[in-house]
Amino acid sequence: LEPAYQFMLRVVTPGGVATPKQWLEVDKLAQKYGNRTIKLTTRQAFQLHGVLKWNLKETIKTINDAMLTTLAACGDVSRNVMCNPNPHQSDVHGEVFHWSQQLTKHLAPRTPAYHEIWLDGEKVNMEELLGPSEIAVAVDASVGEPSVSDTSATDVEPIYGRVYLPRKFKIGIAVPPSNDVDVFSQDIGFIAIVEKGKLVGFNVAVGGGMGMTHGDTATYPQLARVIGFCEPDRILDVAEKTVTIQRDYGNRSVRKYARFKYTIDRHGLEWFVDELHERLGWQLEAARPYHFDNTGDRYGWVKGKNGKWHFTMYVASGRIIDQDDCRMMTGLREIAKQHSGDFRLTANQNLMIAGVSSKKKAKIEELLEHYGISEGSHHSALRRSSLSCVALPTCGLAMAEAERYLPDLIGKLEPVLEEAGLRDEEINIRMTGCPNGCARPALGEIAFIGKSPGKYNMYMGAGFSGDRLSKLYRENIGEEDIIDTLTPIIKHYASEREQGEHFGDFVIRAGYVKAVESGLDFHS
Ligand code: SF4
Repeated sequence: LEPAYQFMLRVVTPGGVATPKQWLEVDKLAQKYGNRTIKLTTRQAFQLHGVLKWNLKETIKTINDAMLTTLAACGDVSRNVMCNPNPHQSDVHGEVFHWSQQLTKHLAPRTPAYHEIWLDGEKVNMEELLGPSEIAVAVDASVGEPSVSDTSATDVEPIYGRVYLPRKFKIGIAVPPSNDVDVFSQDIGFIAIVEKGKLVGFNVAVGGGMGMTHGDTATYPQLARVIGFCEPDRILDVAEKTVTIQRDYGNRSVRKYARFKYTIDRHGLEWFVDELHERLGWQLEAARPYHFDNTGDRYGWVKGKNGKWHFTMYVASGRIIDQDDCRMMTGLREIAKQHSGDFRLTANQNLMIAGVSSKKKAKIEELLEHYGISEGSHHSALRRSSLSCVALPTCGLAMAEAERYLPDLIGKLEPVLEEAGLRDEEINIRMTGCPNGCARPALGEIAFIGKSPGKYNMYMGAGFSGDRLSKLYRENIGEEDIIDTLTPIIKHYASEREQGEHFGDFVIRAGYVKAVESGLDFHS
């Protein structure tokens, strides 16, 4: 007898957008083949957990029928392209979302193997899935002496070549002042530049990444660095040529050193910019001014420029589940049956019910209330600013709990915050079960990375707007030590913070940790 192997399925949703029909399909699969929950990930994708091996093919086929795909949701290719989730808020958001779709489509692997294995040769129609491509970018795989491609291979994979990338590759687009996609954590981060209300282009940042390995200081989280500016219709060209540089120069001998950030740090940023310009055949312009002021979501109802309403709700650790006091899974299913807009998964694992007409708003509100779903204002700001990865029991790499434990830990910190008058103070807190960094802990003002069951390394001092890394403060500590350590710091912050000073800035000014502006200083 074969053991009942369980799998996790990740579904690509460029920019985190799903139609009500797609939501209902994912819900149906979660009920039928999964563990009756849906996980919204920190990269704006769906995850289904607990899918048994013999149900995999049927599940993937149904996902494909719903015009969604699992292709490139994992693997050494460009992953789900992240994007600020509110395209209706302004024309700019709509345009930016459009480019996130184009990037996803342009960098999707072309291999027929996926379709042959999972879909009996049936092809995913990327045109139908994402709409027609805006521009055709010429692919010249011979530039820069690719080390891993050959002509026949590039017929199949014009960008990835014969052996794909050395590691996964992540892209995100932010629309200032919101840095909700943690643009500096991406291999390529695009920052929308808006002048006189119009999108004029993107600043390009390269070489970010969150993962590291415990005990190996040659691995570290890193921030993407801004290298210039390009006009919107050049974004695909920049992304493609950057991907090919990583394809050709990434470390293929030692996997843990293979991420793009190490390629850049090994060769130098100047080398990379020269190589990029050579492959592009044109040069990036000087970066334009921008300003970020937060990485979080804005909860509740907001009216967009097009007159439609959008409701952002807090989803604890991104887990859509029915519980006694809040039947979120059932409620969202009923809303999806009525809703004519769409659903938007945020980079903070929350959900937006977007594009609600004034006529439909009352009905949606009624359903939200009936099923006990709220925007989460009854929670502390710390809880609403929390992120955690899946970790145990689902992730095979987890060394400690995250999703199942962070809510409890926050519950034990909330009385301290309450007493200190900080209940409504947004402090980014993040937890992961291992140093792979899926919940971007190196950008948490308070962060925990699992070391072993019940034990965490504790970090502090990241920038509230996602522009500075956190620093190790205590190693291998359990709950009691965490609370004993944080309580006096929280009280100190409450009594001596300056007007508008964020927790991450305070712990640096007060001398608890040193500021970390570059991953190269992360361990020093
Ligand atoms: Fe990612 Fe590690 Fe968390 Fe698993 S345990 S989800 S690999 S951060």
